Amino acid sequence: MSCPMYIDFTRECIKKFKSILNIGNYDICGSNDGYKDCIFYKTIKYPDDACKYRDKCIGLHIKADVSKMKIDIDILNSMGKQYCFNENRTNCAIYKKFKSGEEPSALLTPDGTMIELKE
Ligand code: SF4
Ligand code: SF4
Repeated sequence: MSCPMYIDFTRECIKKFKSILNIGNYDICGSNDGYKDCIFYKTIKYPDDACKYRDKCIGLHIKADVSKMKIDIDILNSMGKQYCFNENRTNCAIYKKFKSGEEPSALLTPDGTMIELKE
């Protein structure tokens, strides 16, 4: 079964996560059960398991010009597993910025590296 948010070749999750437009490989959306590892799916489906800053995180990408961002969904999902859905979230670079009252760059990733921009 493909992702329940992948309906008629449309990804409903894009309404919340504009940055999905820049994912290079969408195989996960149509994969049997693979979508269950998708960070976007997990955040929408299980908001209570996600970090308290999830909406602010989503907001960063909604406000940003994401057209030049190069996003690898496998790396993102692995970071989500590492940080967003467990206690390790307090070590997330974005989390730390929010906690200190700063507005993180939309390019910042949880491990402190920056999302690459397309040439
Ligand atoms: S797998 Fe993820 S990116 Fe694909 S449709 Fe589902 S929530 Fe969206
Ligand atoms: S990326 Fe960091 S701040 Fe954003 S939801 Fe995940 S743990 Fe929270």
